[in-house]
Amino acid sequence: MTTVNAYAAPSATEPLVPTTIQRREVGPHDVRIDIKFAGICHSDIHTARGEWGPTTYPVVVGHEIAGVVAEVGSQVTRHGVGDRVGVGCMVDSCRDCVNCRKGEEQFCVKGNTGTYGGVDADGEPTQGGYATGIVVTEDFVLQIPDGLELDVAAPLLCAGITTYSPLHHWGAGPGKKVAVVGLGGLGHVAVRIAHAMGAEVTVLSQSLKKQEDGLRLGADHYFATSDPTTFSQLAGSFDLVLNTVSAKIDLDAYLSLLAVDGAMVNVGAPGEPLDVNVFSLIGGRRSLAGSLIGGIRETQEMLDFCAEHGLGSEIEVISAAQINEAYERVLASDVRYRFVIDTSTLG
Ligand code: NAP
Ligand code: ZN
Ligand code: ZN
Repeated sequence: MTTVNAYAAPSATEPLVPTTIQRREVGPHDVRIDIKFAGICHSDIHTARGEWGPTTYPVVVGHEIAGVVAEVGSQVTRHGVGDRVGVGCMVDSCRDCVNCRKGEEQFCVKGNTGTYGGVDADGEPTQGGYATGIVVTEDFVLQIPDGLELDVAAPLLCAGITTYSPLHHWGAGPGKKVAVVGLGGLGHVAVRIAHAMGAEVTVLSQSLKKQEDGLRLGADHYFATSDPTTFSQLAGSFDLVLNTVSAKIDLDAYLSLLAVDGAMVNVGAPGEPLDVNVFSLIGGRRSLAGSLIGGIRETQEMLDFCAEHGLGSEIEVISAAQINEAYERVLASDVRYRFVIDTSTLG
């Protein structure tokens, strides 16, 4: 076992505090990673605050991990000491079910092992990336391509794959009109990726405060959803609406923006249910869908795509002491566009 410095949520209502946690010995197929940067995903906040159901405390969250390989097990072939690597939302799965065999480990029939809040093969609860080190089985470790700095790459391990996967699946590309709802951590990466895929991209944000940024990130158009004329102007116009909002929104209003056969795909994951009027789907043969991160193979494909297109996350690097303040700023939609913890400050 090795001891690493970390930041943990002691309960749903208390701020995160510095602590130490144990990582397992490096097994034959394991990789020990010195974590350099960890992104703050809104899912970390949902989990730390118990918004998605019961959380086992204390919990160390964080699933946007970038670092350097410090040690490899005797059977490891995919990674070597010194490699620049990442870990996303999963650290294991059964590898044998129909979905794992397809490379869609996120849909493992037996449930994938979450990077935090899961139970590892050894029966221990998993603890995530707000830490100085982690031990992960080699198959769930990604290579960060040259040309992507570790700090801007970290958020791609969740925000990147969570948006790349549905954009790819629903065919974002030349001739397709894509709307991204919410310009936060997921949303800003979605804009960059959809633009790089060749789609015509529209941002639908609560206000025009971030308009300049949205256009700079690659959006062709930008509208405020607080302006009711937005919905009448854009009615029936999108092939794909990607909802990245962390709170409940009016699905019917956004469904009305879809063209015939268009799809609204939800990646935003508020704790409370969303309501839908079925006539919003019937009139226009529209689809309402969801998407969960992406498989390991697709995550590597996404990292390679981002490196090729020279795109990373737009980040604000913070120290450990600023984590709780950063949480409040994320909740206030005051993040441009991802907080990334410099783990050398974890103590
Ligand atoms: P974030 O950085 O907080 O961004 C969310 C954005 O949603 C905000 O920047 C804001 O954009 C908009 N928003 C927030 N509250 C709103 C409200 N009440 N009404 C309308 N818009 C609102 O969060 P994130 O890290 O991108 O995560 C977004 C959601 O995706 C979270 O629920 C997270 O848990 C979920 N998630 C899902 C997956 C998956 O696999 N499906 C993976 C990762 C994260 P504007 O200021 O532009 O309006
Ligand atoms: Zn996440
Ligand atoms: Zn499986």
